[in-house]
Amino acid sequence: MTITRRDFLNGAALTIAAGLAPSQLLQAAERSAGYPPALTGLRGNHAGTYTLAHSLAREGAKYPAVMAREVFDLVVVGGGISGLAAAWFYQRRFGAGKRILILDNHDDFGGHAKRNEFTVRGQKLVTYGGSAEMPPTALDSHAVATLLAGLGVDPKRHQAAERDPYRELGMGRSVFFDAEHFGRDQLLAGDPFASLIDARNTGAQPASAAAFKAFLDKTPLPQQDRDALARLADGSTDYLAGMGEGERLAYLKRTSYAAFLRDKAGVGLDGQRFFRSRSNDAYALDADGVSLFDALAIGLPGGKNMPPPSLNPRLGKSPTSKLWFADGNATLARLLVQNMIPGVTKTGSPDDIGAAGFDYSRLDTDDSKVRVRLNSTAIAIEPDQRITRVTYGWSGNLHRVEAAHVVLAGYNMMIPFIMPGLPAPQKEALRSDVKAPVVYTKVALDNWRAFEALKTSRIHAPAMAYTDLWLEKPAGARPADPVVLHMLYVPTVPDSGMQARERFRAGRAFLLGTPFGELEKGIRSQLDRMLAPGGFAGKDVIRGITVNRWAHGYSYMPNSLFEEEAAAQAVLDRSRASAGNVVIANSDSAGSPSLTAAIDQAWKAVGELAG
Ligand SMILES: Cc1cc2nc3c(=O)[nH]c(=O)nc-3n(C[C@H](O)[C@H](O)[C@H](O)COP(=O)(O)OP(=O)(O)OC[C@H]3O[C@@H](n4cnc5c(N)ncnc54)[C@H](O)[C@@H]3O)c2cc1C
Repeated sequence: MTITRRDFLNGAALTIAAGLAPSQLLQAAERSAGYPPALTGLRGNHAGTYTLAHSLAREGAKYPAVMAREVFDLVVVGGGISGLAAAWFYQRRFGAGKRILILDNHDDFGGHAKRNEFTVRGQKLVTYGGSAEMPPTALDSHAVATLLAGLGVDPKRHQAAERDPYRELGMGRSVFFDAEHFGRDQLLAGDPFASLIDARNTGAQPASAAAFKAFLDKTPLPQQDRDALARLADGSTDYLAGMGEGERLAYLKRTSYAAFLRDKAGVGLDGQRFFRSRSNDAYALDADGVSLFDALAIGLPGGKNMPPPSLNPRLGKSPTSKLWFADGNATLARLLVQNMIPGVTKTGSPDDIGAAGFDYSRLDTDDSKVRVRLNSTAIAIEPDQRITRVTYGWSGNLHRVEAAHVVLAGYNMMIPFIMPGLPAPQKEALRSDVKAPVVYTKVALDNWRAFEALKTSRIHAPAMAYTDLWLEKPAGARPADPVVLHMLYVPTVPDSGMQARERFRAGRAFLLGTPFGELEKGIRSQLDRMLAPGGFAGKDVIRGITVNRWAHGYSYMPNSLFEEEAAAQAVLDRSRASAGNVVIANSDSAGSPSLTAAIDQAWKAVGELAG
């Protein structure tokens, strides 16, 4: 299958790919070395990440048994936050002298909690490549509190609101209407609907009716849509008047936000397009894929007598999550590794570790009790009485280790392929976790003069590939200083009526089948189109592009449009059953793409291990 092969080999050797033998697949999975956070181009699930995993899942490849050459107390499959936390909790429970091996198929640790770096005109720019913000649920979790305290992170230090240096320069939000969907390219200053969503979440004062009218009058939307959107913003219409309480709740849960806008709020096609991607960041689904209930929960407007915004505890990235560190949750990943392998950095202080150097050559050394082995894909887990054999591909070869305990902290959907002996209902449950694709592209800019000229620091482009863009904290206060631009792309299939899992599979196939060059072309073209009126020309300003391609992104969350919550929870419960000394952690097993879930599940998994 072309898409799989292209991902194997980064599009470079398609013609020789068909019919590769397992030994050749092992070679193809190798990665070149370097300092991973500073690598640019296609990152996240970088090329080669899934060579072996897909060979099992898609090609049915069979690998020979090899001799076990190392013995560990614990092997953790998956070096994301959950796997690292599991190793840390294991040390706490069983003792610091225990030998631990952490395997991860990427060339960097942290899973989604990855860090990106650029250097522009001698200035280092640090940012997050995936899992970034601390969800509010983290503060209620005993496991998270234990971990943060152990790592010396004080939550109270991160509670204060940050000042916005752009706002101080009169730069605000704007909306970009594209010619393909709205008839003309237009960057329009202001985004009162985003302010309304913020206000609904924070209790702040929303924009006035006059501000909505002034904004809507300048949009390319037809008058009927302007009127319907103004009414929606006004909030005084009960669109579900006449429905009883039960009927109302059923409607909220079973109707997509897009259908509500169309059928009840009288919003036409253009208006629906204008409103379709406000849920992308939180759910990795557009208005056609989220229920009205879930849309209201993150603050989208729904008129009178609707439930107010409320925290969906499964969400990691929500309107009330907060960025604690410049590199997001990658700082926690670093702290965890530093705590277990002290030689990797010179400091274990949460305040300094982000800026300190990091020695990747110390991750996997003979003299360390804890070893993190990168570019290593576990392909077989074989429990056998008191030991479990773990086979993995690394450095062009197959290797096997024995362990007293194993924590699976990778992806649920991979587990049936590496543990085919699990009961069929559990395997079916595990396979139903289809992760949502999400792309975080980071563009290092020489300066942000064009943004200053356009008086904008955040752009919402509802119908373009990248729907949300914002300038990160500037390296310097002057528009002439370098900065990183964050760009969010969720490969959705708008207005398709497809189930969430099908959407995610379609988005993933697209991402894995699209080479970096094509993605880069789209990024440059979108930026030039949006920012040209401010004098922007990508060729003169862009100094680096990192596309954090998360083909397997957010963990699958139960979705009331497509399934009953109780049935979905029963599937999750079935999926995480342990097998002897093999237990399951990771955010997938909670049905919650969040840091809290990743750490809670690690805590739970380690607690389930027999002493
Ligand atoms: C773009 C993006 C942004 C996000 N933002 C936030 C946020 O702001 N706040 C928040 O709370 N959450 C956020 N999340 C959710 C995020 O998934 C969690 O916060 C958390 O990082 C999940 O940790 P994990 O260890 O469970 O999974 P992962 O981070 O996915 O780690 C699992 C690791 O196991 C590896 N693995 C899988 N199978 C194997 C195998 N067979 N062999 C070896 N290795 C294997 C995987 O490749 C991966 O590296 C975000 C997710 C994405 C994709």
